[in-house]
Amino acid sequence: MVTERTARLLLSNGGEAALEMTVEPWAETHQIPPKRTWVVVTHSSAADGSWAGVLHGDEPFQVDHRPESLTVWVNGNCFHLGDADGTAIDAADWQCPARGSAP
Ligand SMILES: [Zn+2]
Repeated sequence: MVTERTARLLLSNGGEAALEMTVEPWAETHQIPPKRTWVVVTHSSAADGSWAGVLHGDEPFQVDHRPESLTVWVNGNCFHLGDADGTAIDAADWQCPARGSAP
């Protein structure tokens, strides 16, 4: 049995134009449409529940904002990107601890 932790980050584009968002360290770039909210989910398989790559505990994400774009640093094993309705947009889930043994 795998005990993984899950973290969700909501990203809303309140502007009038599409907002560029890059998901690191995978360097996946997408455009969030205006007036839309997207959700980034990540999982960690660390036995102690920590998130890799951060100095403090309980920091699954870091968001760097620039005038025209966002960069989301994900500190878990994977990311799953979807819209507010749950429709999948992108994922990097080959190391996802929540997938278990499923293909
Ligand atoms: Zn996952």
